[in-house]
Amino acid sequence: MIKKYYLLSPGPTPVPEEVLAAAANPIIHHRTPEFSGIFMEVTEGLKYVFGTEQDVFVLTSSGTGAMETAVINTLSPGDKVIVLNGGKFGERWGQICTSYGVDVREVSVEWGEPFSKDQLTDELKANPETKAVFATLSETSSGTVYDIQGYGEVLAKADAILVVDGISGLGATPCPMDEWGVDVMVAGSQKSFMIPPGLAYLSFSSKAWDLVEKSTLPKFYFDAKKYKKNLEKRTTPYTPAISLVIQQKKALDIIKSVGLEKLFEHHRILGDATRAGVKAIGLGLLSKSPGNILTAVNVPAGVDGLKLVKTMQGKYMAYIAGGQEPYKGKMFRIAHLGYMGGFDVITALTALEMTLSELGYEFKLGSAIGAAEAILKENWE
Ligand SMILES: *Cc1c(COP(=O)(O)O)cnc(C)c1O
Repeated sequence: MIKKYYLLSPGPTPVPEEVLAAAANPIIHHRTPEFSGIFMEVTEGLKYVFGTEQDVFVLTSSGTGAMETAVINTLSPGDKVIVLNGGKFGERWGQICTSYGVDVREVSVEWGEPFSKDQLTDELKANPETKAVFATLSETSSGTVYDIQGYGEVLAKADAILVVDGISGLGATPCPMDEWGVDVMVAGSQKSFMIPPGLAYLSFSSKAWDLVEKSTLPKFYFDAKKYKKNLEKRTTPYTPAISLVIQQKKALDIIKSVGLEKLFEHHRILGDATRAGVKAIGLGLLSKSPGNILTAVNVPAGVDGLKLVKTMQGKYMAYIAGGQEPYKGKMFRIAHLGYMGGFDVITALTALEMTLSELGYEFKLGSAIGAAEAILKENWE
């Protein structure tokens, strides 16, 4: 058989053909009116996806670079912060802060468990000197979406700022930055933004910018003030990833033409179909508050989880993601994120069914697909 590659992971995600083609043009110089025009259109489009009136800065890095930028521009050595750690990416906020000498109070949440705004209120009461709360919109390691709106309400009444990693969630699930009171929002290009890896985005509220003015942590390449000053001149401080910016303009055109509300609904339908599919063959979800970005599925008893992922990727070329430590071999993740359509869900579930039957799991072949089809058919427009 011809082995066709199916990218079904929560980042990188598939890129639309016309967006791929946009990178095949000759490179234009970045200090030109032509590039500035494209760049400003991109920053305007990003403001739409972020749901903000504030500037959105474009960094040449993966998403983690924007996370680091958020930390080093708002904090000073010894500042106290609260980090919500419900998985690998929440953990990363803590690691970045610790690397810079920030005093981290880490709140560990079981993977897949929700964390309520009341719990956050209690944490803040117990830690009144908190400068910032670090949270994750969609924890990609567990497929969980957190109550950012609730945290925003809590922090609107506090001195601390709310910093949100929206790298996999923004653009796929609602999180309007200004309306929900998010003070620093971070995003990456290779998830819902439908372009390859390499760009990261972030924006500061005026409450957060007051901290930027006072922050004394060391910074150079990721100094937010430089990005602000240069954005006023319609450019970036250093050479941007020109081709990626041009691709992002194309992809934002698609995002704007569909509209954010429709995109959220699209992800909801794909998420519902995926969940219905895996449940129909007796599998359980890891998360108690699963998002519409990806579905984290528990490996059923008696099945070798590592072999499952290896077979799906190696034999069927269906590139779902495995579980990360400590869930390696115990869980796998099917993404329905960015430029994925209804039939991508069917592809993932077909490969999953074929793999599971090969690994000796007993179920009726075709039932996951049938359940997913029913959801897709009902919702297709
Ligand atoms: C992918 C992801 C990241 C990491 O981004 P990189 O682009 O790999 O640096 C951070 N947080 C979340 C929630 C993610 O999904």
